[in-house]
Amino acid sequence: LASRDFHPDDTIIDIKGVRIGGDNLVVMGGPCAVETPEQIDEIARLVKAAGGQVLRGGAFKPRTGPYSFQGIGVEGLKWMKDAGEKYGLLTITEVMTPEYVDVCAEYADILQIGTRNMQNFDLLRKLGTIRTPVLLKRGMSATYDEWLNAAEYILAGGNPNVMLCERGIRTFETYTRNTFDLAAVPAVQQLSHLPVIADPSHATGRRELVESMAKASVAAGANGLIIEMHTDPDNSATGDGVQSLFPDQFARLLKELEQLAPLC
Ligand code: PEP
Ligand code: MN
Repeated sequence: LASRDFHPDDTIIDIKGVRIGGDNLVVMGGPCAVETPEQIDEIARLVKAAGGQVLRGGAFKPRTGPYSFQGIGVEGLKWMKDAGEKYGLLTITEVMTPEYVDVCAEYADILQIGTRNMQNFDLLRKLGTIRTPVLLKRGMSATYDEWLNAAEYILAGGNPNVMLCERGIRTFETYTRNTFDLAAVPAVQQLSHLPVIADPSHATGRRELVESMAKASVAAGANGLIIEMHTDPDNSATGDGVQSLFPDQFARLLKELEQLAPLC
């Protein structure tokens, strides 16, 4: 079901009038994690003002260590929904377990599956039973075939609204957090009709590389971007501050992207 062989035309996922896939570019921006109602409100305002269409923010965080901040939980979903509605943005948030799929889908427009859960098959099966659009991140050591098979679980369950997200893979290089596999963008678009979104934030782990890689993704044909942005990334961010853009960088980037592709 994920293959182009059986579905030659690009899939377009229409979420409240925002069409993801095809020629338009969707930009999802926001903090790694929802922290306070004021924080998510202010960042939502900045995302909207810059021309973004989707507010990102994690309420359930898949942290590498058990003592790191794990997210606000359901309360954070409510704050993000309020901010999205106030500024006219769609919202995307990560869901980590099958039991939380329904509550996350109640509050968010798009569900994000993180790299660490790409092959959480119980979670994928559960996502197949709903219709909420899913952004499926590539596992950090997954081949294209494994990634597309993970998408297949969701599609086979009956949910056709799947987008794929390249967020960097594990290599021997340690300077960047991951190695951005730019070729994945056109390669997976040739193999599949599903929209492909690039995440230059997690792919590089370095703020100073995010803008170039965002533009490279769009030049390579990405259908959208998901980018971390924070009002105070170096001091108050609970996670991923070093890769989060400052609001003025985010706004400048979107202006430059508009020259490459029309925003949704
Ligand atoms: C995130 O988007 O904040 C995140 C945890 O991403 P990934 O699953 O790609 O590491
Ligand atoms: Mn993050």
